[in-house]
Parts: sequence; C-alpha cells; structure tokens
Amino acid sequence: MPTLRQLFLANNAQTTDFPLLLEFERAEGVYMYDKEGKPFIDLISGIGVSNLGHSNPYVINAIKQQVDKYMHLMVYGEYVQTPQVRFAEKLTSILPSGLQSVYFTNSGSEAVEGALKLAKRFTGRQQVIAFHNSYHGSTHGALSVMGNEEFKQAYRPLLPGVSFISFNKTADLSYITNQTACVIVETLQGEAGIRVPDSAYMQALRARCIETGTLLILDEIQAAFGRTGKLFAFEHFGIEPDILLLAKALGGGMPVGAFIASNQIMSALKENPILGHITTFGGHPVCCAAGLAALEFLLNENLINQVAEKEALFKKLLVHPAIKQVRGKGLMLAMELESFDLNKKIIDRCIENGVITDWFLHCSNSMRIAPPLIITPAEIEKACSVILEAIAHYC
Ligand code: PMP
Repeated sequence: MPTLRQLFLANNAQTTDFPLLLEFERAEGVYMYDKEGKPFIDLISGIGVSNLGHSNPYVINAIKQQVDKYMHLMVYGEYVQTPQVRFAEKLTSILPSGLQSVYFTNSGSEAVEGALKLAKRFTGRQQVIAFHNSYHGSTHGALSVMGNEEFKQAYRPLLPGVSFISFNKTADLSYITNQTACVIVETLQGEAGIRVPDSAYMQALRARCIETGTLLILDEIQAAFGRTGKLFAFEHFGIEPDILLLAKALGGGMPVGAFIASNQIMSALKENPILGHITTFGGHPVCCAAGLAALEFLLNENLINQVAEKEALFKKLLVHPAIKQVRGKGLMLAMELESFDLNKKIIDRCIENGVITDWFLHCSNSMRIAPPLIITPAEIEKACSVILEAIAHYC
C-alpha cells in the first residue's frame, strides 16, 4: 500500500522538487496538528489567510447553515443570492463611499485580472504601471504586473504596455501620465519582504493618479482585515483607492476574492460588450457566508485593536546579533537575516520544533511572521523562543 506521501508525490502536481511534505490531520486556533498529534504554531496563517486562526466555530457554523440551504446555483451576477448580497452590504458599509460596488471572484489573481480589465475599459487607455518586486498572482495578467523577471521570463509574451517603477520612490511618479490606465500597487509590499511605504509617498502617488486621470488599484490581498493593525492598510496613509483588491482572509478560510470600485467605474463592465468579466464560481454562496461570518467575528471581537501590542511583543523579543531587522506593520512582519542559507536552516529547525514559517518569494533572507491575529502573548513568547533557539543553534 503506498503511503499518502507517496501518492501525493505521484499524483498531485508538484511545483518544486522540495515540497515541505508535512501532513496535518486537523487545525484549531493558531495550531495545526500532525498525525501523531504534535502541535505546530502556524506563524504564517496559510500565507495570510487564517486571520482568525483555524476552525473558527462561528465561521464553521455559517458554512454549515449555508451548505444546508444551497451551494452553487448559477454563474456570478444573475441571481440574487443572499450570502453574496449580505456580504457585499457588510463590506461596503465599512469601506469609503467611493467603494460601493463589489465584484466577487474565486481568488486574488482573478481579482487582479478583473481590476486590470476594468481599468482599461473605464479609462479607454492601455498602459499599466506596476512596481519592482511586486507580487499580484500567477495568472498571465497577474504575472505581467509582477516585478520579478525570474518568475515570469519563461511565460513571455505577457501583457503589452506594462512598465515598472520603484516602490516608495517619488521621482518615479512622473512615469504616470495621461496615457496610464492604472497603477497597481500593494499598499504594503508583501513578497518583497514586507516593505512599508512613507505616507507622503502614498499621498503623492494618489495625487499623481488624480492629476493624470489614472485609476489607483490597491492590492490588499495580503494586507487587509486587520493584518497591519487597521481594518484596511490604506487607512495608515490617509488615501483611498479607485479599485481595491481583496482575497486570502476575505473568505475566513474559504476561497473568495473581490475587486471593489465605485458604481460609476464598475458599470464599465456592463456595456460594449456586456458581461465584461465572467466567472462561474466567483462569490460562491458558501464562501460568501464564511466571509461574512469571519468579518463579523473580526469586528465583534475587537481583534484589530490588539494587533499593535502583539507587533510590539514580537519586536521586543526578536533581538539577537544575527537578526538584522524586524520590518513591517502589525502582524505582517519580516525578520531579516544575513543570507538565504542561514534563513533556510533556521526555518527548517523552527518547523522541526513546532513553529511553521517560511521566506518570501522575492526576499529569501527574511523569515515571514504573520500569525493568526488571535495569537496570544504566551503563544508569541513560545514561537519567539523556538526562533531564538534555532538562531542560537547556528550563530
Ligand atoms: N496579491 C498579493 C499581494 C498576494 O500576496 C497574492 C497571493 N500571495 C495574490 C495577489 C494572488 O492571490 P491568489 O494566490 O489567491 O491568486
């Protein structure tokens, strides 16, 4: 009889020759448990998804209730489905008045695709500006706006008309012109190793887009829902996007994304031709029910107010001569070490000792620290002691 691991390697498509091969049986709160019942602290939230931790009972209950009513009924946008309507109503109630129309998608990448298409349609322009070291997903359109040659060169030709500028560099804003349909930017760059821009820069970016009639797309697929200590990361900078991208934590552990704009902008999808973006499963009723429950839980439990204190505790504890920097905002942090080699060894030892973490796609010398927002001070202390032990072992 082949083991599950052997079957996984034989029949499930592999994307590297070195998958982690961990096998978990269940997950609850900040912990994931393997077959022997060994607990692992999830310090990365399944890459920014499990903001409320695993198996939140309130979310599970909402999923079960919706499953008993109906699952898929029809492609997106035709029927009045209660979970989609209630979720959009709640989201728009907590967003600025310019973000009142929600298009639900399956994933973050699909939200990126929808937003790029919408910006071209609304402005009638073809040029797109994106950022060096950005990450927006892995479909062709999303790859086209990724700021890393290594990951995209094998897939050319990609979308034409995309150019790249440097994050947080005011001089580059002059590349945004009245030919630019949109600027797509992560409010905080994630896979670049958590880079926080200056407020003055973000305000200048916002102003330049207004001046040139360019739509500003903020990708908060990783950064939203309290991850940075605010409900939405743009709140740190006193700006608002024309199109907001959400996914990951949006579904409370279920797959759903969204691009959100004003009614005026979004209505460009309705004409010449109609059906400007089509998706079968986007806004799946079970995912929307889960997402609504997750958002209610996040707001009712006041989780966001505790994020700054938890950030401070990580920053206080993670001190060692080998740690060059702990960067980021809230619970979206990167711990920088000397090299990938050292980082990888430390990460492997952390995993062995029950703390799951990893590195960033475009920043391999830094360790990701993005636990569920529900992590307690005692759990933070435990996780940091495992990290510091691993550092001490190698340094
Ligand atoms: N944008 C950002 C900032 C992301 O971090 C990600 C996923 N890591 C995406 C877009 C793509 O989302 P998905 O994997 O759901 O397509």
